[in-house]
Amino acid sequence: MTKEIRTVEFVVLPASKAKATKMFQIAGACRYVWNHFRERNLADYQAFKNGQAGRLQTSYFSLGVEFTKLRHETDWLKELPANPIKHTLKYFADALGEAMKGKKKFPKPRSRNRHAPSFTLPSKENFAIKKMDRKYSLLRIPLVGWVTLTRRGGVPYDGEPKQVVLRHDGHRWRAFVSYELEVEKRDDGEVLGVDMNVRQIATSDGDFYFLPDLEKKEKRRKWYQRMMARQVKGSNRRKDTKRKLVKVSRKIANIRKDWIHHTTREIAEKCGTVVVEDLKVKNMTASAKGTVENPGKNVKQKAGLNRGMLDTAWGEIRRNLEYKCGRLIEVNPAYTSQTCSCCGHADKENRKSQARFLCVYCGFTSNADTNAALNIRRLGMAQLHGEGSGIKTVPANREIDTRTPHG
Ligand SMILES: [Zn+2]
Repeated sequence: MTKEIRTVEFVVLPASKAKATKMFQIAGACRYVWNHFRERNLADYQAFKNGQAGRLQTSYFSLGVEFTKLRHETDWLKELPANPIKHTLKYFADALGEAMKGKKKFPKPRSRNRHAPSFTLPSKENFAIKKMDRKYSLLRIPLVGWVTLTRRGGVPYDGEPKQVVLRHDGHRWRAFVSYELEVEKRDDGEVLGVDMNVRQIATSDGDFYFLPDLEKKEKRRKWYQRMMARQVKGSNRRKDTKRKLVKVSRKIANIRKDWIHHTTREIAEKCGTVVVEDLKVKNMTASAKGTVENPGKNVKQKAGLNRGMLDTAWGEIRRNLEYKCGRLIEVNPAYTSQTCSCCGHADKENRKSQARFLCVYCGFTSNADTNAALNIRRLGMAQLHGEGSGIKTVPANREIDTRTPHG
């Protein structure tokens, strides 16, 4: 049994206008505080970046002390709940830390137009949740009072809620409630290889999961984006376009999210261990599947769109598999699409077409992605059982080529 945090998304039902205004006030204060401390740390950060000064000593703790001072000096801030607003500085301290490590740029200012209003109720002292019935729950937000939460399927967990993030998506408020759960992971001997393609995900047991077709919606989104760029800032037409853009973006995000949830659950139910390609390695060697292994073959526009979907979704797919399955193994994806999963012969000629695999050595034939998934599974098994398990990690013919003479 291990402890895990799972987050459930609820819709906040429209409350009174006064309550909605208060929620926007808290979110606005978070934005103000972020920008305020961003400004104060900017010069020091630039000096550090230019080598004129040492690392910033700013931490969540030091920011917290300064926040308390600021709050006492600022009347309107004093009237708002301290903890949710202070928690913004936790995010800011994290972002600053990343920037100092050189992983990310200095945190950007939060603008009213470009950032979804949001705030966090960081611990259970800051909120209360009451389950009403299957469909509805009540959430108490400091200053605001009780609001109603709803979710299709109700509350799936009995665990204790630890944190709530509230975010306005341009249409309505949503609440992301994090629960801490005791989970038992399946850990039998079943190992499944997973191959990710621009059109589908193939598993080593021969199943396929087709990516949702978002082409039309993506096109519409692009169209609205271009339209907005042409329209006059602040005009009613532009606002109207923006509303449509937000709507279609939300739909795309929801379809994507549902698909990921269903697919990863189905995969997790089949096995205890999942083997996937290490996408960091894969992206270094190929911009899209097959380009390195089949040079000269251009990836179509549609594939490009889906590629984008898969890349952005990949982190989430991986994270979902990691907590839904007992174990996740990542392997180097080199040659997995041109190696025969039956005899281990690796050859460019094995890949007859994008869809079909035919081994020129032993005649084994299969769907190309299923064959790749089987290879991925084999690599994972080798990692799992270690050297000397007899499981070949290198294609048979390459093994001979790459051996040093002493072997
Ligand atoms: Zn073969």
